[in-house]
Amino acid sequence: MSSQQPVYQNYINGTFEAASEHLEVFNPATGETLSRVPESRAEDVERALAAARGAQKAWAARPAVERAAYLRRIAAKIREDVPRLARIITQEQGKVTALAETEVNFTADYLDYMAEWARRIEGEIIESDRPNENIFLFRKPLGVVAGILPWNFPFFLIARKMAPALVTGNTIVIKPSEETPNNCFEFARLLDTVGLPAGVFNVVSGSGATTGNALTASREVDMISFTGSVATGSRIMTSAADNITKLNLELGGKAPAIVLDDADLDLAVQAIRGSRIINSGQVCNCAERVYVQRGVADEFIERMARAMGATTYGDPLAQPDVEMGPLINQAGLDKVGAMVQTALADGAELVTGGGLGDRPRGYHYQPTVLTGCRQDMQIMRQEVFGPVLPIQVVEDMDEAIALANDSDYGLTSSIYTRNLASAMRACREIDYGETYINRENFEAMQGFHAGVRKSGIGGADGKHGLYEYTHSHVVYLEA
Ligand code: NAD
Repeated sequence: MSSQQPVYQNYINGTFEAASEHLEVFNPATGETLSRVPESRAEDVERALAAARGAQKAWAARPAVERAAYLRRIAAKIREDVPRLARIITQEQGKVTALAETEVNFTADYLDYMAEWARRIEGEIIESDRPNENIFLFRKPLGVVAGILPWNFPFFLIARKMAPALVTGNTIVIKPSEETPNNCFEFARLLDTVGLPAGVFNVVSGSGATTGNALTASREVDMISFTGSVATGSRIMTSAADNITKLNLELGGKAPAIVLDDADLDLAVQAIRGSRIINSGQVCNCAERVYVQRGVADEFIERMARAMGATTYGDPLAQPDVEMGPLINQAGLDKVGAMVQTALADGAELVTGGGLGDRPRGYHYQPTVLTGCRQDMQIMRQEVFGPVLPIQVVEDMDEAIALANDSDYGLTSSIYTRNLASAMRACREIDYGETYINRENFEAMQGFHAGVRKSGIGGADGKHGLYEYTHSHVVYLEA
């Protein structure tokens, strides 16, 4: 590692602090070391939580519009710095520059959007059964939030947790993924220039087993807001059980895409292919399996194979024109490769891709299409999180909906049809947190992003996402 590469410091109580132990951060397109970041111990975590606790009451006592003003100032700082921030994200996460810039701009927009809620946090006045009694329902902050982040949209997810938390009067300690902490420290550097009171926003980096576990097991945390895998979500529930800590869990997905005989095939191919290559297929709500109706199956598969096979990929900084970057790390690459091999051994057919390709270095996997897939195969049931599209042919909409709903996951789903009655039937019968009709992701910030089954508990965005960071306080006043 060259001496010019940064050594980042935790951000605790408004101060950047040197750490005694560090982790290295790598560029997944090249393998080179980018930085060193703190491997925070339980004592670091407790200091950050104490700072957040110390700041919370005074923060909550301010009018919400004042709290929101800080979010707007951070948004403005972010907008002044888009290319640099996008480059830092691409370097450590591997997404192409255009997507990284979209992520940065969306983050600023999200901070502004949540700031707009400051004047709309509403309680209720409820009719009483008794004479002369008033019943008031107040919405109050929970206190201290622990925000634990994955690596796939690392910059945006800071805002998705801190903006609703702060505008409703909570304080927060963020733990970025050990794969992508650099952008979080850059966020903290920008935030440090807007005069936010010390302790309101804190960052501690480190591994899940050490830093993450110290956060989720602490009595000082009033809410754990976690985005990541089902396996980690389950461990966090266990860790939070002793303190009965409130949980908001945004977990994995295995999004089904249904293509009916009456679909606009141009649209379906373009949308599903886009959804499978964006961020190299490492998105929780991207099409992970396709059910195509027999009448259009051959044409759909042929067109999809051509489109996926033509996708350019490589190092997004060295080759700015590529459509797709690498996977996040060796473990991700091994998992995708092994799942494709298992599918082939179980009888799937490879139509395009299926290997590492010829890139000289980095964790690249070829855009891949598999046909002849069956519902009992691992590739149709477990999250791949890579640019691999397994396709199963179905006879009719009944079969497609039954197979789509037959999943441990329940985050997002999509359906392609020109028939309004089929679209409305999908609304009624698809058991998912979100359904996209004639398009793929992404969700809107004013919607509500939430999964059913193992995809999570609670949700994010919009009014419902905002209120996840509050508790109700009902007061009975006889007067
Ligand atoms: P992950 O579960 O491996 O890690 C997520 C975070 O949890 C990291 O910061 C990690 O350090 C931490 N962690 C790990 N073990 C921990 C422990 N024992 N205690 C506390 N924290 C711990 O997930 P990942 O690989 O970073 O992200 C990919 C996953 O995230 C995919 O499954 C994807 O579907 C999911 N995801 C979901 C959404 C959504 O909105 N539902 C959004 C993005 C990603």
